[in-house]
Amino acid sequence: MAFERINQKDWYKILGAKPSDSPAELKRKYQKLALLEADVAAGEAEERVQRFIEIDQAWKILGNEQTKKEYDLQQREDNLTKEWPLHEQIYLEDMCWNEDEQLYTLSCRCGGNYSVSKSETKDVSLVCCDTCSLVIEILQ
Ligand SMILES: [Zn+2]
Repeated sequence: MAFERINQKDWYKILGAKPSDSPAELKRKYQKLALLEADVAAGEAEERVQRFIEIDQAWKILGNEQTKKEYDLQQREDNLTKEWPLHEQIYLEDMCWNEDEQLYTLSCRCGGNYSVSKSETKDVSLVCCDTCSLVIEILQ
């Protein structure tokens, strides 16, 4: 079952849960919240209803083993991208070819350099700056 990546929220946070919670724990947290919200939902402000819908959505995703797995995977990918501060994506042909050192280079905004040897470009797509923590992604 596929679901839209857009408008993806932190479903765990909405349920007050964490990825390591067991299905039973997730369910308990959902039910507790759902009861709580359902209680006041009648005649309450729009945001209450909105909140109830969110809790329900969170449960639909986290309460199903398959969609939970997909969601966890997405979260991991997102975290991974966040760990690497991507400076920019650049095509190999836009980098400077350094004949002497047989390297493709690009100046970083910090004054340092990104460099990658011709042979490395075959299996490397992320290159770190030699002085700061920025990373560029090489598109082939
Ligand atoms: Zn740099």
